[in-house]
Amino acid sequence: MPARQEEDGPWHAEAVCRRDEAGLFFAPSKEPTAARLSREEAAKRVCARCPVMVACREHALLQPEPYGVWGGLTAAERRVVLARRRRRAAELRQTPGAGTIAAAG
Ligand code: SF4
Repeated sequence: MPARQEEDGPWHAEAVCRRDEAGLFFAPSKEPTAARLSREEAAKRVCARCPVMVACREHALLQPEPYGVWGGLTAAERRVVLARRRRRAAELRQTPGAGTIAAAG
C-alpha cells in the first residue's frame, strides 16, 4: 500500500508498508519478470504481517487500484478476484430466492 493514499480510512495509519517498504509495492519501469515476481513475493510477505491487510485489500478491490501489491494481492490477482465476484453476483441474481436466503442468513 503506497504512501500516496494519505486520504484513506483509519486502517491506513497502521499500514506496515507505511514505514519503509513502499518501494516493494510498485514496479519500476521496464522491470524484468523475474525481478517483478521476486519483488511481489517480498511485498506479499510484508502484507502477511500487516494488521490491516483485509481493509487494504478491500480498498484496492473497491477502487479498484490498477497497480501495485495491495492487501497481499497483485493487480492481476485482484482482477481475478473481481471477476469471480462479478460472476458470483450474476449467478445470485439468476437464482430465484437467493437474495432471500442471503438476507436471512
Ligand atoms: S496489506 Fe500490504 S499493501 Fe496493504 S497496508 Fe498492509 S503492508 Fe501495505
